[in-house]
Amino acid sequence: MAGLYVHIPFCARACTYCDFHFTTRLRDREDMVQALIAELRSALPAWSGQTFTTLYFGGGTPSVLRPAELSAIAAAAMEGADWALEEWTVEANPEDLDRETLDELKAAGVDRLSIGVQSFQPEVLDWMNRLHGAAGAQNAVERAAEAGFEHLSLDLIYGVPVGGEDRWEQDLGLACTLPVNHLSCYILTAEPKTLYGHQLASGTLSPPPDDRVLEEYARLCEVTKSAGFEHYEVSNFARSEGRSRHNSAYWNGTPYLGIGPGAHSFLDGRRWWNARSNARYLQAATTSDFPGQQETETLGAKNRFNEALITGLRRVEGVAPADLIQLTGLDVTAQPALQGLLDTGRCEWVDGRLRIPEAQWPLGDATTLELMV
Ligand code: SF4
Repeated sequence: MAGLYVHIPFCARACTYCDFHFTTRLRDREDMVQALIAELRSALPAWSGQTFTTLYFGGGTPSVLRPAELSAIAAAAMEGADWALEEWTVEANPEDLDRETLDELKAAGVDRLSIGVQSFQPEVLDWMNRLHGAAGAQNAVERAAEAGFEHLSLDLIYGVPVGGEDRWEQDLGLACTLPVNHLSCYILTAEPKTLYGHQLASGTLSPPPDDRVLEEYARLCEVTKSAGFEHYEVSNFARSEGRSRHNSAYWNGTPYLGIGPGAHSFLDGRRWWNARSNARYLQAATTSDFPGQQETETLGAKNRFNEALITGLRRVEGVAPADLIQLTGLDVTAQPALQGLLDTGRCEWVDGRLRIPEAQWPLGDATTLELMV
């Protein structure tokens, strides 16, 4: 079993806070589609023993491409590998989701949309430099449901430094009333090379106080729970069997192939990744020398143990010590910090599995760090 990720490195506009790999120069779009197809044809033969079950177009903004272009890339993926397709997700921004596009995506076989809403508050959307307005986001979600998409996910961001006191409460309330079965809710972080990072560094803006961010996290847990969502991963919530199969596979340690600039792949304890450069990627495509711009690392037992903790402790299921021993030979119950973390409630045992309680997830990274070797 394996997952396939395709990175579409284009956005119509740069958001204030984003440090993903993308460009707003769309002139290379057609060349990029051909390059992605070329990388698929070059990479997939090495995966001949694997059956792919999930396809995920992320970015960037995949909906910047036309549905026919996404279909051409998907066709190359389907032709080159064994598939038992369970889920095909496309990330999309609200302004791209007119009814014609939705119908074309549905007809192509896309069965899940992850819609980058981020907020429903005009002031917040303006600060984020988003192209869509509040009504536009809501209308896009409703149109997608009318077009027959049963699996809809919204991205929302909290802990933002602008907007009224009740903006998060309003965002949550509205999101939970929409016909979606998945929410991805992220705390805003200030990455150094973003406009938000510069605003904080230059003092033109202050971050929201920690206690406000923690209050917003607490409300996120409460409101989503009462709306029928299961908090199954630090940032992810699902109802009506809406868990993301593709992302769950990442967190389970399932192999995945990443295609496109900056995309990462993982197979048999080896990880490799493409350069975060469209120019280098397009150049590699001219000779099909994609490995020439890749970096690679082989994960030893310690790294695999640490990665299994990082991903496992982000999930409600946590980790099973026996699984970690089988995978790496290392025993999490032998870690000196464990007893202290259990005594202070930062970790707990549930049905023989070690996990971080929901209320403690905001401190989860520090907790995991204490358990790593
Ligand atoms: S948040 Fe999404 S739309 Fe905005 S710049 Fe980043 S990848 Fe592009």
